[in-house]
Amino acid sequence: MSEIIVLGAGMVGVGTALALQARGHAVTLIDRKPPGEETSYGNAGIIQSEAAEPYAFPRDPKTLLRFLTGRSNQVRLSPAAVLRMAGPLLGYWANSAPGRHAALSRSYAQLTRRSVDDHGPLIDAAGQGNLIRRAGFFEICRNARALDAQANYARRMETAFAVPFRALDGDAFAREEPSFRSRYAGAIHWTDSWTCANPGALTKSYADLVAARGGRVVVGDASSLVAAGAGWTVHSDAGRVWAQDVVVCLGPWSPQLLAPLGYKVKMVWKRGYHQHFSGAAPLRRPCVDAENGIVLAPMTGGLRMATGAALVNRNAPVDRAQLTFGERAMRREIALGDPVEDQPWVGHRPCLPDMLPLVGKAPRHDRLWLNFGHGHQGFTLGPTTGALLADAMAGHRSDLLKALAPAGRSGTIR
Ligand SMILES: Cc1cc2nc3c(=O)[nH]c(=O)nc-3n(C[C@H](O)[C@H](O)[C@H](O)COP(=O)(O)OP(=O)(O)OC[C@H]3O[C@@H](n4cnc5c(N)ncnc54)[C@H](O)[C@@H]3O)c2cc1C
Repeated sequence: MSEIIVLGAGMVGVGTALALQARGHAVTLIDRKPPGEETSYGNAGIIQSEAAEPYAFPRDPKTLLRFLTGRSNQVRLSPAAVLRMAGPLLGYWANSAPGRHAALSRSYAQLTRRSVDDHGPLIDAAGQGNLIRRAGFFEICRNARALDAQANYARRMETAFAVPFRALDGDAFAREEPSFRSRYAGAIHWTDSWTCANPGALTKSYADLVAARGGRVVVGDASSLVAAGAGWTVHSDAGRVWAQDVVVCLGPWSPQLLAPLGYKVKMVWKRGYHQHFSGAAPLRRPCVDAENGIVLAPMTGGLRMATGAALVNRNAPVDRAQLTFGERAMRREIALGDPVEDQPWVGHRPCLPDMLPLVGKAPRHDRLWLNFGHGHQGFTLGPTTGALLADAMAGHRSDLLKALAPAGRSGTIR
């Protein structure tokens, strides 16, 4: 058994802390905020066991042109930010070539496939079953062409990765979600994914479980990390914490922490927003509306509208454009009610050019471990890569661990 510090109490950090405790380690979980208040709070709450393929950089010229010219609400970009992230974006583009993407997906699918099984016992132990629906989510298709394309994609996922789905026509979807006024061509129902009505609360409850199982959950600044003796120390509100090993689970902030240690991490930060609406017509399941670039997810705080990606500088001011577009479009189709917050929530998906999270030992330091870069699916994958990181620390070897290991991924971390 060793003493281990886990830096960052988002879904990835708490998942890691619980997996290390399950193997008998003494864990201190450190965050500068209370657990689950950043990206793991603001997401759409879908535990995406259907996401066998990581989100690729679009390579067909038509889609690319729509994104570049701002004609899609799915992706917005600022030229200055694109220039600043040019290196990581080029790597992302190269890794999204069909052959390479297919190879990466073989690893990725192994992660998402087991995600619900990894969350399940934690949800039970944390007593949070009331927040979870095990009934999937919908992807709305407005016209027959979109429905055909989405159904073809779903069939491919079913054949290649055994991901189950139902294709619904317009009438069947209207029976499932009668709150929509429009009659759509239909929807894809990803049946086996789970959804959470309060992702921040679930993350917090996992952190409470860490404490209930004997771990320490303390407030502290990860940037105070220094090597000390045969281990590491971090300053916290509870005093100086020492441990033999440290795991970096700082999501979008991980590159900042690692820079002074000599690591350059190529990250693409994809900004997303959300806004809640109270008094909205009820939805039974989250609905993804790709054409309007939004997700509508029923949450304890109201109906949450979450946006697609904005490639902007991380400190760029809040830009309501994607939410405004989504709100205008949806008000024509469903009673949305009133906005809950004056200002939308904003956060950044921590995406890596090769689309796989970094899970394993830091390339040039002993006893420094990495678990970050979960991009679009970190809420899904926290418990899964937590368990895999614990395996790596125990010296296990597998093809999957090799694919996720930082060593040898010089296009992602140097
Ligand atoms: C709009 C949107 C919708 C999304 N929808 C989904 C979805 O439906 N399903 C899904 O699986 N994923 C979704 N995601 C992605 C998912 O939210 C992220 O991948 C995931 O939350 C990342 O978790 P994390 O623990 O790595 O990071 P975080 O949750 O951001 O945790 C990092 C922690 O590090 C702490 N920290 C940072 N710096 C320091 C420091 N110096 N000292 C101490 N602590 C520090 C922060 O306070 C924070 O708590 C979505 C993302 C967005 C933006």
